[in-house]
Amino acid sequence: MRATLMYAAGDVRVEDVPDATLAEPTDALVRITRSCICGSDLWPYKSYGAGDGPMRMGHEFVGVVEDVGGEVRTLAAGDVVVAPFVASDGTCTFCREGLQTSCRNVAFWGAGGNDGGQGEAVRVPHADGTLVVLPVGADDALMASLLTLSDVLPTGHHAAVCARVGPGRSVAVVGDGAVGLCGVMAAKRLGAEQIILLGRHTDRTDLGREFGATDVVAVRGEEAVAEVRDLTGGDGVHCVLECVGEEASFLTAAKIARPGGAIGRVGVPQFEALAAARPTFLRNVTVSGGIAPARAYIEELLPDVLEGRLQPGRVFDRTVGLEETPDGYRAMNDREAIKVLIA
Ligand SMILES: [Zn+2]
Repeated sequence: MRATLMYAAGDVRVEDVPDATLAEPTDALVRITRSCICGSDLWPYKSYGAGDGPMRMGHEFVGVVEDVGGEVRTLAAGDVVVAPFVASDGTCTFCREGLQTSCRNVAFWGAGGNDGGQGEAVRVPHADGTLVVLPVGADDALMASLLTLSDVLPTGHHAAVCARVGPGRSVAVVGDGAVGLCGVMAAKRLGAEQIILLGRHTDRTDLGREFGATDVVAVRGEEAVAEVRDLTGGDGVHCVLECVGEEASFLTAAKIARPGGAIGRVGVPQFEALAAARPTFLRNVTVSGGIAPARAYIEELLPDVLEGRLQPGRVFDRTVGLEETPDGYRAMNDREAIKVLIA
């Protein structure tokens, strides 16, 4: 079968790999019908070392179950499914607590011998715990939006939950990538009154306004801090969704949170030590967030997508075939595209 591999920074190839097959009785074999490129795929695209060997790519996909192992109970051939970006058993202590990304049997797509999501098919470990059946056909018109349930929509939602978004709250979203835009949508869904989107790309912030942003701040650093304070009577916001993962964006988040506020950080940190220890301490700002347990949120978000109240699939502004995936990486890295769908 064909699948996407990262050889080195800037070197993505689609090649023949061994066919995905069932290996464990808890596995499902899924034919991938749509996948996509994640903002987090761009970190290795910028920095992956050739010495580490080719890496299978992709962790967001929807598809059709082709076969299941003998112990799989909730799935059958023909089911249309979405996979969260981490596989989990659904039964261990942490899964039952809703933190499936810390599952005792956690499996990451493309790592540890697992298939990646940017390919023709995938072996899904712990299929009962991992996959969610979608009550639609494989080519349903909602499929782009349903695909976002694998990562960006639950990740934006997780940022909002960790930042304690609720009715009447003021919110700032740092980052205008697909996760930030989904964070805007999630904040509106949770009842936020004011949603300030920090981003400098007009095509993205325009979409953010359609998703519910009430204000856009198109500058960075201290200028951005000053603008957010101006927009909030001088105090800053109750809730900050940090959707970038760079030290500068975290510092901005720390400075725009009002006393007693909270930061939900979901950008994969590209730095070692959390900054702003003293300012967040002195103003009692909660620093929360982390890798989103997407599996915990899919059932909650699914009805809003199925009934059209949320249209997160609008973050996809380019579609490529599997063989064109390398150019999809280039387009996202060059910011020609917000997010690339592979169909
Ligand atoms: Zn588990």
